[in-house]
Amino acid sequence: MSEDDNFRIKFWGVRGSVPCPGPKTVRYGGNTTCMEINCGSHVLAVDAGSGIRELGISLMNRGGPISADIFFTHTHLDHVTGFPFFGPFYNPQNNFNLYAGHLTAPQNLENVLKNMIITDPMFPVPASVILGCCTFNEFNSGDEIRPHEGIVIKTAPLNHPNGACGYRIEYKGHSIAIITDTEHPEEGMDENVLHLVQDADVMVYDSAYTDEEYPKFKGWGHSTWQMAVKIAEFANVTKTVLFHHDPSHDDDRMDEIAEQAAAARFGTEPAREGMVIKVC
Ligand SMILES: [Zn+2]
Ligand SMILES: [Zn+2]
Repeated sequence: MSEDDNFRIKFWGVRGSVPCPGPKTVRYGGNTTCMEINCGSHVLAVDAGSGIRELGISLMNRGGPISADIFFTHTHLDHVTGFPFFGPFYNPQNNFNLYAGHLTAPQNLENVLKNMIITDPMFPVPASVILGCCTFNEFNSGDEIRPHEGIVIKTAPLNHPNGACGYRIEYKGHSIAIITDTEHPEEGMDENVLHLVQDADVMVYDSAYTDEEYPKFKGWGHSTWQMAVKIAEFANVTKTVLFHHDPSHDDDRMDEIAEQAAAARFGTEPAREGMVIKVC
């Protein structure tokens, strides 16, 4: 098998809402959303939550100039809070393509990062230092993106306050779907989600709540692990990864969810920081 056949996902941050490190979140992790997807030698990242800091350290330790594509599901704080702490941004020899599809003009990713995150009085380093090696690519959720030969990325809008974008990354005849943050409809299932996850090898799905907790948080833009299982069953997903864990779900609570979800459908498990799933 050549290096080109390598298709895998690694979880650098699995929490939603706010980082929650501490003795009660050691096993599943306390960093907010960040995933690395390797397609052969190409590095893709999804989201820049606090988990992206460790991804940056890992990339710098691999040696040589770094080039990667960073896709944003959206720009809520938990998905961008690590952005200015991504070490490779501080080396102008590196090269990053940034993508977002959830914003509508006059908003765009560059403006949001420059004017709301990396700006006086929010952050001390000027945006020009951090964004020097970044190229911004705006698209509309629903567009298909081909960042490199052999990699096809399908996108769709998700049901989330201020918008969010779901992704399906296809490589070598396999697929990884990333669906966060999203809230399921009152009846049935979201057609946009079904379209992205149909027959996927891996589906990463917003499971912030349980069905029991959900009524208290209706309208907040998140879903449940039970809905993840239903969608996976309906759309013939091979492996379901529960994601965007609520900070109130400590390790013991996550163990309970893991047990119940695995019993509900084979191959369902919560994401843990550091977890790697090799697709091919
Ligand atoms: Zn979130
Ligand atoms: Zn959100």
